[in-house]
Amino acid sequence: MKIVVMVGGVGGARFLLGVKAALGLPPVGAGESTHEVTAVVNTGDDVWLHGLRICPDLDTCMYTLGGGIDPERGWGQRDETWTVSEQLAAYGAEPTWFGLGDRDIATHLVRSRMLRADYPLSAVTEALCHRWQPGVSLLPMSDDRVETHVVVEESDGGQRALHFQEWWVRHRAGLPAREIVPIGAAEATPGPGVLAAIAGADAILLAPSNPVVSIGTVLAVPGIRAALRASTAKVVGISPIINDKPVRGMADACLTAIGVDTTAAAVGEHYGARTSTENGILDGWLVHTGDPAEVPGVAVRSVPLLMSDVQVTAEMARAALDLAGVDLG
Ligand code: GDP
Ligand code: CA
Repeated sequence: MKIVVMVGGVGGARFLLGVKAALGLPPVGAGESTHEVTAVVNTGDDVWLHGLRICPDLDTCMYTLGGGIDPERGWGQRDETWTVSEQLAAYGAEPTWFGLGDRDIATHLVRSRMLRADYPLSAVTEALCHRWQPGVSLLPMSDDRVETHVVVEESDGGQRALHFQEWWVRHRAGLPAREIVPIGAAEATPGPGVLAAIAGADAILLAPSNPVVSIGTVLAVPGIRAALRASTAKVVGISPIINDKPVRGMADACLTAIGVDTTAAAVGEHYGARTSTENGILDGWLVHTGDPAEVPGVAVRSVPLLMSDVQVTAEMARAALDLAGVDLG
């Protein structure tokens, strides 16, 4: 089976552990299997800081699947130290609000050096994955620079746009967002292998990632939504919203900004039915047990969706694959 999963960072990475387990692969690391998992990863969170290219969602997936993630934080590396960040702060080098651990910085140094030598992000990611052996193909949604910006209102009534990371990490999504714009997306092309993976998939899953700034940004790359709509495989989404709240993070602030209610039903409707709406992509929608959801034209099923451990997450993935009509035997 060829399974393609659209992902962001923490929610996407944890879900991928379950997808691998459901397919009989070791959740962490590489392993022998007749099945193939391809993750199409959001790169709209990417940012240059201190001359380094940071790709938060790619790194979260790579570290999580490669066994290097800090399990408490959910991002960055385990056993991390912070000497470089402390030294940068001592110089007053801005920004100081983005956590960059020493181990993590090695990743960004290698990446930045390769990008400056004109390797595309997809090739850089492949090179970094030689070390981490995530056991899935991690494909950046695009090799082109796309950066999500958030338009917020100033106290004097004016507006200002800031990088998504500054809004999310520095301001904890606390500045009311007027608009969320994936800058560069309209001119971007899908990364190498992305459209082919979608076209050749036996099932396509939308991880329970942020519907706006993770999945939404991937879908903003021209060609990806159309490929999902044209695929022979079924497309099944998993709700990141449980009991009208994001499980972690501030996805509600993003949904509010685009006028979508923070409910599993509203997010399902936002993705829309592939068959009966003009731009919809879903054939199936998984919601948490007890969450009411009816999405016209979409097969809705409810199962426990809390990714508390790999076993539960594998059950989620199995339910999603079952809804996609994939028989794992
Ligand atoms: P980010 O890029 O690190 O913010 O991560 P993602 O976009 O991949 O995922 C963030 C989303 O994951 C949030 O909206 C959470 O609601 C969702 N999420 C986190 N943990 C769980 C979980 O256990 N179950 C479900 N269903 N969603 C989760
Ligand atoms: Ca992210």
